[in-house]
Amino acid sequence: MTRADGRLTADLDPLDHGPQDACGVIGIYAPGEDVSKLTYFGMYALQHRGQESAGMAVSDGRRTMVFKDMGLVSQVFDEATLNSLVGHLAIGHTRYSTTGSSVWDNAQPTFRSRPGGGGLSLAHNGNLTNAEELEALIAARDPGHEVPHKDRMDSSNDTSLVTALMTTYDEPVEKLAMTVLPLLKGAFSLVFMDDTTLYAARDPQGIRPLVLGRLHSGWVVASETAAIDIVGGTFVREIEPGEMVTIDAAGLRTCRFARARPKGCIFEYVYLARPDTVISGRRVHNVRVKIGKILAQEAPAEADLVIPVPESGTPAAIGYADESGIKYGMGLVRNNYVGRTFIQPSQTLRNLGIRLKLNPLRDVIEGRRLVVVDDSIVRGNTQRQLIRMLREAGAAEVHVRISSPPVQWPCFYGIDFATRAELIAPGLSVDEICRSIGADSLAYISLEGLVRATHVPTDDLCRACFDGVYPVEVPRGAEPMLAEAHLTHTTQEGTQP
Ligand code: SF4
Repeated sequence: MTRADGRLTADLDPLDHGPQDACGVIGIYAPGEDVSKLTYFGMYALQHRGQESAGMAVSDGRRTMVFKDMGLVSQVFDEATLNSLVGHLAIGHTRYSTTGSSVWDNAQPTFRSRPGGGGLSLAHNGNLTNAEELEALIAARDPGHEVPHKDRMDSSNDTSLVTALMTTYDEPVEKLAMTVLPLLKGAFSLVFMDDTTLYAARDPQGIRPLVLGRLHSGWVVASETAAIDIVGGTFVREIEPGEMVTIDAAGLRTCRFARARPKGCIFEYVYLARPDTVISGRRVHNVRVKIGKILAQEAPAEADLVIPVPESGTPAAIGYADESGIKYGMGLVRNNYVGRTFIQPSQTLRNLGIRLKLNPLRDVIEGRRLVVVDDSIVRGNTQRQLIRMLREAGAAEVHVRISSPPVQWPCFYGIDFATRAELIAPGLSVDEICRSIGADSLAYISLEGLVRATHVPTDDLCRACFDGVYPVEVPRGAEPMLAEAHLTHTTQEGTQP
């Protein structure tokens, strides 16, 4: 079965993708600069956060133009398109969507005309958990207002609701945002703009990252510091949880729409963020190396060689090798972009499974006892195929070490793991998973060890996919499947101004 756009559905996808991020966002205010091209390169730096659609809104101070389409940044934009997007103010977005919802309507930025004239464009990383409430609010405020069509929306296009709600107010955007932002629940790192001004806001828990940088002639806000580096900016600071930043001809202003109650996503450190990004003052690569060191202390192995599952397992494998004294080597070569092709593989190619994505280096592997370091196990299919492939390539033993604890619970804050029923960890013990994937031994880092590697206080991190402690309200209807989880969000203090 394929989706309407010809891509494989997840259940038949031989690559059994791991956790997927929901989006990357960037905003640039820089008079005198070629802003659409800067935004393009910033989006390129955030491509790992979403590969299904890309879009950009650009304004010259009088009029906003939006261009978006399905595909990678390089497939959506060409020189001619970028040359036609003229202005000094822009926002950009790269999007990942859940299966079946990868349609043009859900591409971002969203755009709506404002009641008093002009437009509002908005791009979102995260996932709101009170979409129904927002729909009701829009209908109550303006019964004639077009509410984004539910059937064509998925969990990440609750973004359209924010744009719709904001355009029910006939007030300056800076003012109406202070009314609307406290009404949103869940995870949101937003960049939005009217024809003259750039805004950036982060939910009171700061679940998804959002950072501020200085450009020679302006400012940049982005999901990750790596995007600031790539557009030639200098990192200034993180946008704080519960903060909104406004940037226009008068300069940069900041205000707070809610008290900060930090709960940054711990999975950004494990897998989601680029290794060259800095979160809470620490380079993600260094945190991942530290995770590998702690993993080696907690779960040693008798082996000849440590190999990563590239790329996300690489820093932790370096750390594991360093701490254990076991030699580090590259035993797998990754074919980076095969998972992003829009061409449907033939049955023969599909049977190749993981070989489409990873190719073993037989000379390195043959006769060796391997420690294989990976970032996570979601369904287990990838690891099962990988271990079979390593044994076929001559590995004497395969000891799997995972740089995150078992993923036990779904994420409602913008990451698509799988449903709880699809996850391998909830139903099986570690020994059973080890047998299921065919490894000689299997161990995960402890949650305590992972938290220690980040140097962030435990209480300031969201760890819900590992421990079921959800820091923010989950969507209505999700509670029954989380009966054993700890729903700690009975009050929404964090969203009060
Ligand atoms: S549930 Fe997991 S992936 Fe989702 S925000 Fe929390 S730590 Fe991150």
